[in-house]
Amino acid sequence: MLRERLNRAAYFGLHRLIGSDLAKRYKEFVDLETRSHEWLRDLQGQRLQKLLAYAASQMPFYQKHVTPQAEYVLSDFPILTKNDVRDNFQDLMSPRIRQENLSGKQNLSYSWTRVQTGGSTGTPTTVIHDKNFRDINRAARLYTQYLCGFAFGTPYFKLWGSMREINDAKESLQQRIASTLAGEVLLNAFRMEDPQIDSYVQTINHSPVSHLMAYSDAAYRMAEHIRTAGVKVRPLKSVMACAGTLTDEMRQSISNAFGQARVHNMYGSRDCGAMACECLHGGLHILENKVILETVDQTGAPVSPGETGRILVTLLGNYGFPMIRYEIGDIGSISRRRCHCGIPTAVLDRVEGRTIEFLLSANGGYVSPIYIRHLIGVVHNSGVIRRFQVVQDALDHAVLALEKESGAADAVLDDSIANIRRDLITVFGAGMKLEIKVVDRIPESDSGKFIPCINRIGRSAGL
Ligand SMILES: [Zn+2]
Repeated sequence: MLRERLNRAAYFGLHRLIGSDLAKRYKEFVDLETRSHEWLRDLQGQRLQKLLAYAASQMPFYQKHVTPQAEYVLSDFPILTKNDVRDNFQDLMSPRIRQENLSGKQNLSYSWTRVQTGGSTGTPTTVIHDKNFRDINRAARLYTQYLCGFAFGTPYFKLWGSMREINDAKESLQQRIASTLAGEVLLNAFRMEDPQIDSYVQTINHSPVSHLMAYSDAAYRMAEHIRTAGVKVRPLKSVMACAGTLTDEMRQSISNAFGQARVHNMYGSRDCGAMACECLHGGLHILENKVILETVDQTGAPVSPGETGRILVTLLGNYGFPMIRYEIGDIGSISRRRCHCGIPTAVLDRVEGRTIEFLLSANGGYVSPIYIRHLIGVVHNSGVIRRFQVVQDALDHAVLALEKESGAADAVLDDSIANIRRDLITVFGAGMKLEIKVVDRIPESDSGKFIPCINRIGRSAGL
């Protein structure tokens, strides 16, 4: 415990040296549990008002789209799509960052930064995080660990796939020291073949570390290998599942694989940072001092609490590049109820996929990737399908690739394929031309994440 406290002090000290206000930001998150709902609502209201007024007066994009007013509400602002961000990149920057960006000058070592998101889950997007927002984001990430029961300073395994975070050669000494002080033990999510997973299990078994932070898909893949190969694993206390949909089936499998570990869903993205995380009581708390989430229907009208809609994100900060009502590409529902742990934020009932991953039926309705996953991976899979991917490129055309489990009998696989074809055509509509291919290996996306359902409808038209 003393070592953890010293590491924490050193980590904050290091950040102070580079001009970061991380310690103060972190304290605001941790103190949330001592605050009232009214206090949080007031704080959120003040931050929002200041942000909207600033954006409306300073950003050319918002000067074009928002009528000046004494007081703003969120709905005065347009929904900001990824295409809007791409087409208006300069016009969304603060005057100072625009100037520094144009002149190529960015002298301060700890200043604003460009953040890119992978193109494989939708439109490739670049956004800017200003210096203050980087602090807020870092603090939010540390707070999600706190919610999962491994408060900052407690060592944890990090099964992650970002080259920058994995490749030591590209990391500065400062980053490496910070990572060590934060207690990270890295495992590479880019390498998820069976022998690598076995070596990760060995690392876990020979270490006293009891917490794991991982991509949901990577944790699930590891768990399924542990289960099917009968590998012995030392029990963990918690697994934090990040960056992807966590289904009940995945949660159960991950918990079982690591000795009934608690599994916490963490909702976040590269462009918006951490947005919600499950506490020890299971409430998926929205980090409302940092972010406002709205849920809207296809026309952009708000849906009621408890109903599913497209998620819009407003970052309460990031004045250098205000992101207001940003359509992140996920679907979810904000709960009617509150968590009884005492943290006064709203909670999400659920959050699902990227909207781009949702496939479409012949009449344009959403076909849930969770449903597809269940249908192919569970219902019609008696141990013969290792991995699958559905790529839909038109309302009436899709390709399903299947990786066959080693040793699976062809006759059993043929039966599965016939049943999958029948059920998928029922879901998509009778006009669906479904090609089913058995392949040796389905590749991961560029970011290292595996995506089971890909919607390519309209991509060639630049949508
Ligand atoms: Zn809670």
